[in-house]
Amino acid sequence: MITASPSSRLSPPLRDWRELWRESITDAAELLEAAGLGGRTDLLPPDDAGFPLRVPRGFVARMRQGDPADPLLLQVLPRAVEHEAAEGYAVDAVGDMAARAGHGVLHKYDGRALLIASGSCAVNCRYCFRRHFPYAEDIAAAAQWREALAHVRADTSIRELILSGGDPLSLATHKLEELTRGLADLPHVIRLRIHTRLPVVLPERIDEAFTGWLAGLPLQKVVVLHANHANEFDAGVDAACARLRGAGATLLNQAVLLRGVNDDVAALAALGERAFAAGVLPYYLHQLDKVQGAAHFEVDDDRALWLMEALRARLPGYLVPRLVRELQGDPAKRPIADFAR
Ligand SMILES: *Cc1c(COP(=O)(O)O)cnc(C)c1O
Ligand code: SF4
Repeated sequence: MITASPSSRLSPPLRDWRELWRESITDAAELLEAAGLGGRTDLLPPDDAGFPLRVPRGFVARMRQGDPADPLLLQVLPRAVEHEAAEGYAVDAVGDMAARAGHGVLHKYDGRALLIASGSCAVNCRYCFRRHFPYAEDIAAAAQWREALAHVRADTSIRELILSGGDPLSLATHKLEELTRGLADLPHVIRLRIHTRLPVVLPERIDEAFTGWLAGLPLQKVVVLHANHANEFDAGVDAACARLRGAGATLLNQAVLLRGVNDDVAALAALGERAFAAGVLPYYLHQLDKVQGAAHFEVDDDRALWLMEALRARLPGYLVPRLVRELQGDPAKRPIADFAR
């Protein structure tokens, strides 16, 4: 009998994630070409000044060829409609700009402090508040972390430290090590949560150095991923999720409800099922931040509530995310409930 040798079952070595990041597509014509839409000059944006196109090639490879309405393509391709003004859509949609640009800690909710660990991302999502936030790229700095950690040290009500951004995993692992070394003498902090889209858009980021760091932390660990569509998952993402779970992390997913991307029952149901197949539970489904340039992605609350109702009828309760909106000054993410209609 022929049995597979252990080594043949190991996955091939990962390519260096920084190299892959550098090789990202940043040109709209090149993106269209890669998505099988090379002839469609009508889809080229007039200009994308201010918020450049950026998307790792591995993510582009998951797009359907030749489909201008592909749900992954729509999330990253700059479009002319972004330049149309829309009422109620502002540059600073959640009022975090000042805090984000300052020492980098947002302590809005009880027991949880959110640290803007890095302003960079591996992907530029067109619906994101970051589009008006170019200087955010510079946020990560050890000096600011000292201030941030001093805040967490002084407030013993903080049980959970959330690393967010931008994307905290855009930092080198040794920077993350530096940061969590400062947590070692803070016994009141029992949980570390990481909000990141990198395991989805660039799963090679979850390499051995990273999982070694994560596994070694004497804390409970939660990683909240960000995928908006089932097609964002593939074998590479599954493997990255498995590595994260192997390092002791509980995996959750947050998505943004986006017109044309995931605003139908089948797409949302498939996202929940697909995420769960990768060991990830749905957490939040966010109503869009009303940020200038993103109005064309809006799904109104009535339709959002109808979608949730249909989803509840279709999926086990644990695969139904919570529909929420972030409003300035609220003590928590605000659930959008039927009784509010
Ligand atoms: C979203 C958010 C959190 C986390 O909220 P949860 O409801 O616990 O996921 C914490 N701090 C800030 C500033 C946030 O925006
Ligand atoms: S913060 Fe998240 S949603 Fe915004 S650009 Fe980065 S990865 Fe995309």
